[in-house]
Amino acid sequence: MRLSQTLVPTLKENPGEAQVVSHKLMLRAGMIRQLGAGIYSWLPLGLRVLRKVENIVREEMDRAGAQEVLMPAVQPAELWKESGRWSQYGAELLRFQDRGERDFCFGPTHEEVITDLVRHELRSYKQLPANFYQIQTKFRDEVRPRFGMMRGREFLMKDAYSFDLDQESLDNSYQIMFQAYQAIFRRCGLTFRAVEADTGAIGGSDSHEFHVLAGSGEDEIASCDHCHYAANLEKAVPGPLEEVALTSSGAAMERVETPGIRTIEEVAGFLKVPAHQTVKSLVVETSEGAAILLLRGDHELNEIKASHLLEGEGFHLPDPAAVQKLTGVTVGSLGPVGATLPLIADYALENQTDFVCGANQEGWHLTGVCWGRDLPRPRFADLRNVRAGDRCPRCETGHFSLDRGVEVGHVFKLGDKYTRAMKMTVLNKEGREQTPLMGCYGIGVSRIVAAAIEQNHDDNGIVWPVSLAPFHVEILLVNPKETEAMELAESLYNRLGQANLSTLLDDRRERIGVKFKDADLIGAPLRVVIGGRGIKEGMVEVQSRHDGASQKVEIGAVAEHLIERLQALMAEAVV
Ligand code: ATP
Ligand code: MG
Repeated sequence: MRLSQTLVPTLKENPGEAQVVSHKLMLRAGMIRQLGAGIYSWLPLGLRVLRKVENIVREEMDRAGAQEVLMPAVQPAELWKESGRWSQYGAELLRFQDRGERDFCFGPTHEEVITDLVRHELRSYKQLPANFYQIQTKFRDEVRPRFGMMRGREFLMKDAYSFDLDQESLDNSYQIMFQAYQAIFRRCGLTFRAVEADTGAIGGSDSHEFHVLAGSGEDEIASCDHCHYAANLEKAVPGPLEEVALTSSGAAMERVETPGIRTIEEVAGFLKVPAHQTVKSLVVETSEGAAILLLRGDHELNEIKASHLLEGEGFHLPDPAAVQKLTGVTVGSLGPVGATLPLIADYALENQTDFVCGANQEGWHLTGVCWGRDLPRPRFADLRNVRAGDRCPRCETGHFSLDRGVEVGHVFKLGDKYTRAMKMTVLNKEGREQTPLMGCYGIGVSRIVAAAIEQNHDDNGIVWPVSLAPFHVEILLVNPKETEAMELAESLYNRLGQANLSTLLDDRRERIGVKFKDADLIGAPLRVVIGGRGIKEGMVEVQSRHDGASQKVEIGAVAEHLIERLQALMAEAVV
């Protein structure tokens, strides 16, 4: 591709609206432009990268035996009413009507459509297992579209849906997809983790997310430094506590005056006790009522875990005024002794004694509180976020480290949720109707482009993994008016093309300094500088974007030199 004839509108300055590196660099390298909140156009350079990701995904899905289909983006409401999601999905679902005032939505995901398709087409157990996938534009009316391609409203997803006759077969299909995902992210040159994920409102049993590790990631993931256990913070379970179990001093519970003291830090400081000896009380509420959750002062509530524990919908933490209405006590002095709401305490408090908590009276706390003696032992459950350094629940040897991650893929065992609701059956060996089990498997194709940049950049621009680079080689012409240099560039361009290397030729009438800056931004793995004194010496300069190393290569040998280096880079990327 010739840069003089291609729309690559690079920007010198960082665009003000971009908060994360990938968004900045995608705008600066002229890969994308915004049309509206969370809605973008892909320009030629960006589209080349998007297509590379798409092709890797397609190849691995095909290799795994999935069949490619393309379903409509516009979906009739009736299907969503059948599955029950028309009323459940909420404001993320973009709904509209046609001229006949029939309800439709723009697909945020396709469980209903694929189930409708297969209930008409698959009749026999002999046609299972089957797995269908598509690479298609989705729309989700995200509350906060941000970070460019990381969280768009319109984005490109690969979604696959498997159908199996029984659990064992579903487990196998899931495993095949799990491995295909590992191959995909490896081939994309990404550092990633597969983590256990919360199965949330969709229901179902097993679920794993694939996260690209990057500081800007919106998720936090906990991984054991000893075994393979890794989980989204939403779900990560703490192992047994290592701190010395507190033994009771035998001292009686006491009421102490704590004027103006509210937060855990204030209480710990005022009473000169460590934060882990205090207990905090948090009121939560659902449609079924309110409860008080108890956590060690230095631990954080995990709202996802808590919401699964409580009956009813609409889990939330009421504001201070509402708490006062529910309990008759101000937030800062709330405590479990004499509380009227049901109590659930975190497992970390099971062996706690002599703790400090609110006295249910403004300006007072209780010290030396013990379960059984001063209040009944409450129900215990896993309520908290794990912390870095906490023990692993699986091997009980290793410890957690926490990383930030960008979720690029999600695999999920759905079971019979959709097949049952939408009455999809096949005839089994005995000739009886049987409801198949489903799995669903998503990849954020456009999000991968952004995640790859989050992981592969420096101060000057993008440093593409070779498999995703929009071009393998960029040729920089120092002066396009020099005939000899131009001819050399042309012949190199053609030779590399024959060897299936993609080349960007910067033949613009720009200063070489500008070309260098843009080449850094665009991030092709190798670049060749042609022109100036080098030509007279019969040499060109070959530079690596990865480490900045540069070397002079004889003009006659440069094509083979580049081909060899690229092949080496690609081979390295595949292992
Ligand atoms: P998130 O928690 O980031 O909102 P999700 O759990 O809603 O993701 P899924 O429904 O599992 O996502 O969708 C499959 C994949 O689609 C995700 O793993 C992610 O890579 C991608 N994806 C989801 N929402 C977006 C979005 N708003 N922009 C870009 N990609 C997205
Ligand atoms: Mg989402």
